[in-house]
Amino acid sequence: MYKGINASDGVGIGVARVAVEPDLSFTPHVPKDLAVEKERYTAAVAKFVKQTNAQIERMTATMGAETAAIMQAHNDFAEDEGIREMVLDSIESGMCAEQAVSDAYGTYYTMFSQMDDELFRERAADVADVKTGLLADLLGKEVINLSDLPERSIVVVHELTPSMTADMDRAHIVAIITETGGRTSHSAIIARALEIPAVLSVPDICTEVKTGDLLVVDGSKGVVIPDPSDADIEHYRVKAKQLLEWKAKLQEYRGKKTVTADGKKLLLVANIGNPDGANTALENDAEGIGLFRSEFLFMDAKAYPPEDEQFAAYQKVALRMKDKPVIIRTLDVGGDKEIPYLGLVKEENPFMGYRAVRYCLANPGQFKIQLTALLRASAFGDIKIMIPMITNVDELRQAKALVEECKADLDARGIAYNKDIEVGVMVETPAAAFIADDLAEEAAFFSIGTNDLTGYTMCADRGNDKVAYLYETYQPAVLRALKAIIEAGARKGIMVGMCGEAAADPLLTPLFISWGLEEYSVSSPSILATRRQIAHWTKAEADELAAKVMKLKTVTEVKSVLQAAVK
Ligand code: PEP
Ligand code: MG
Repeated sequence: MYKGINASDGVGIGVARVAVEPDLSFTPHVPKDLAVEKERYTAAVAKFVKQTNAQIERMTATMGAETAAIMQAHNDFAEDEGIREMVLDSIESGMCAEQAVSDAYGTYYTMFSQMDDELFRERAADVADVKTGLLADLLGKEVINLSDLPERSIVVVHELTPSMTADMDRAHIVAIITETGGRTSHSAIIARALEIPAVLSVPDICTEVKTGDLLVVDGSKGVVIPDPSDADIEHYRVKAKQLLEWKAKLQEYRGKKTVTADGKKLLLVANIGNPDGANTALENDAEGIGLFRSEFLFMDAKAYPPEDEQFAAYQKVALRMKDKPVIIRTLDVGGDKEIPYLGLVKEENPFMGYRAVRYCLANPGQFKIQLTALLRASAFGDIKIMIPMITNVDELRQAKALVEECKADLDARGIAYNKDIEVGVMVETPAAAFIADDLAEEAAFFSIGTNDLTGYTMCADRGNDKVAYLYETYQPAVLRALKAIIEAGARKGIMVGMCGEAAADPLLTPLFISWGLEEYSVSSPSILATRRQIAHWTKAEADELAAKVMKLKTVTEVKSVLQAAVK
């Protein structure tokens, strides 16, 4: 049995598909028949183009034509006349197809990666992808494509990146296992949003299991069982059935208001990562969007997305959600969120470095493009702007000043927007927690980012297994910070919400009710369970439990008291 981090609940019984980079090394040889060699190359290109077209078709259906268009660059490079001539000339001079492809695409890769223009430099990645695809085919190796998998696949990867998930074949994937990442890493967040059971940070799993191995993945416990016995399979089938029954039972909360047992109305909204997430949010009965992680738009692009493209994405969410509130977070780059074309230099301590609002304020030209796109979209729904990683009042003032500049520009362009758009703060640093009173005077709302706040408060990186035992929102230090933030917001009369993963933790719900948290932003599949949990507590009961918990000194005590109380 392998043990990892329980990142996304549920049971998956299926066959491993280990997606490691294939070994594409080869020994060059002199081909016997040049015509056959040219034919091998032509066939590899045709196969590559066919596969890419199928991928574009699937992506268009699931993610829209704009996102799918990114893949067209692959076909353009596969069929490029200049490259084709280069490859055929090399074969004609006696090279094997593998060497000819490797040389030609290698030359183009170097050329693009050395260009001054960032847009062209970005093309180098496409060239490299095409080279890998063609070489793998010529060598008879398989590049596992997560968009086209057999039924009941268990994806085993070193790291699940947002681009891998962009066109993942959700219908055929029953579980995910990775070698890196924690509960709040983006892989985990994506797995939960897609309702795929996931176990992360299993050491060496890519070498321990082979494609074709039968596995059982228990995402709730964080275990992977290789070569399961009949009894194991039966046990987990029962468990999977119970989970389904639990989900069916939660349906009774569909269409209901989110109220505590003594009738206080709270707001239950969803976290989304792309515009289509709004559909999933509505399907799961969300009352709005509490966090649209806009960086996914930037991560899926090859260059900084222009104003119109961003506007279209934000407008789509606004229109889908109609008059429901939609909080869109401005670009949160850095830390574990890499966007290669922004050219951020690798830092010693990326989580404490140049990220989120720091990057945005240092690049006001880019920042204003996003703010303008958000303002334009605000004419189509109840959009609010949220600034991540705030540590001081100056940052908030500067961001708000830029919003005002963008408003003036839009006035000059005669474009409509909501003049009273709210600008709120994501409270996710201890600094912001300490000055919550001051921030609350200038922010329209707070949304607490417990994923980062837990890490920064405990000085424990969310992706570092060695300090995972410290990364706990139940730690008394984190709970005190949360209480202080919620109470500071309430004192100043602004709405306080929470969009970190803790918002969906049933153990913590009574504490939040007691302290006065008004908005709970959770992944779409967690909506009904959170509504159920909220419905089980009165303020008086929650107060009693909170008073007891806040006297406790250790995380173990806190957890055991909360576990005993959960309803
Ligand atoms: C957080 O930090 O709690 C949060 C919601 O944002 P992210 O996980 O994207 O950093
Ligand atoms: Mg964060």
